[in-house]
Amino acid sequence: MPELRRGPITDRWVIIAPERAKRPTDYRSESPEKDDPAKCPFCPGHEHMTPPEIYRVHDGNGGWAVRVIPNKFPALTTYPELGREAVGGFFDRMHGVGAHEVVVETPDHERDLADLPLGHVIKVVETYVRRLQELMANTWHRYVLLFKNHGPQAGASLSHAHSQIIATPVTPRDVRDRLEAARDYYHKKERCIFCDMLLAELQMGKRIVEEVNNYVIWTPFDSRFPFEIHIYPQYHSHDFTQMTSEQIQGLARALKRALGKLKGLLGDPPFNFVLQNAPNPVPRPGRPDYWATLQYDYHWHIEIIPRLTQVAGFEWGTGFYINPMPPEDAAQYLREVEPADP
Ligand SMILES: [Zn+2]
Ligand SMILES: [Zn+2]
Repeated sequence: MPELRRGPITDRWVIIAPERAKRPTDYRSESPEKDDPAKCPFCPGHEHMTPPEIYRVHDGNGGWAVRVIPNKFPALTTYPELGREAVGGFFDRMHGVGAHEVVVETPDHERDLADLPLGHVIKVVETYVRRLQELMANTWHRYVLLFKNHGPQAGASLSHAHSQIIATPVTPRDVRDRLEAARDYYHKKERCIFCDMLLAELQMGKRIVEEVNNYVIWTPFDSRFPFEIHIYPQYHSHDFTQMTSEQIQGLARALKRALGKLKGLLGDPPFNFVLQNAPNPVPRPGRPDYWATLQYDYHWHIEIIPRLTQVAGFEWGTGFYINPMPPEDAAQYLREVEPADP
């Protein structure tokens, strides 16, 4: 019997339809074909093929370990003014002000976060933190999104391991919905809804995959997609960029293990991950109370979405998702598999 579920934060219905369920082996994906390294702009020696570098982590041998560059075809870009206005007195428009960066995670053409040594993944997470700090220092950037597309079906146009950062001049609607849910709950209870949810999940246990260095890897009650995985800090924090070096190391390990388990279970599936971080807390002119309780009510986290099912007409028409893999089963499968490189 299919079941409708709604989580406390997203206010969105999901249909869990296990009759349509398949076993993890039915979802297994082969590694997508790698691009030709001779033509790869992210490989060492090809630095001239990218726009000028913004940031690098040195490898100690004159080369780089992690590299950040502007996207060659940016969705948003720097501009001296926002130009916000009403078109015809009615429609909102503004210039495409923002930033669009690419984080080349490794000089290695073949390896991904799940297979790179932990010490290297720590450098990647440190780079994310540094770039987000810098982009959030610009008050025109209301929101900074870190995300990764892995595999062509997940939108990656190059196979060499990379992630992306986009800074937008507005707070995206999905982010705002989540922030409002967290703020409303805080006003009622004076507690963080995410901390409360995590506590409930840890007590129930059946959707917990693993606890790693003060991070919890789990599958949400209202998972939209098969093997959707979330990583939450077990400590309360609204802002990813405030992590201590110990917390960065813990997250690197949790991220590597979560992606390693996904790979161990499903081969090399296409996936996206996104960081759900707090918006830029700097108040805007005319909005002095802009997200005033943010540091108490919001809790940053990472969502990993394997792209194993198609979003089709029903999802488009309703905003509902149909998920054939109950998250309780997904958590169990993920608990049982050990990453190839733990
Ligand atoms: Zn390459
Ligand atoms: Zn919290």
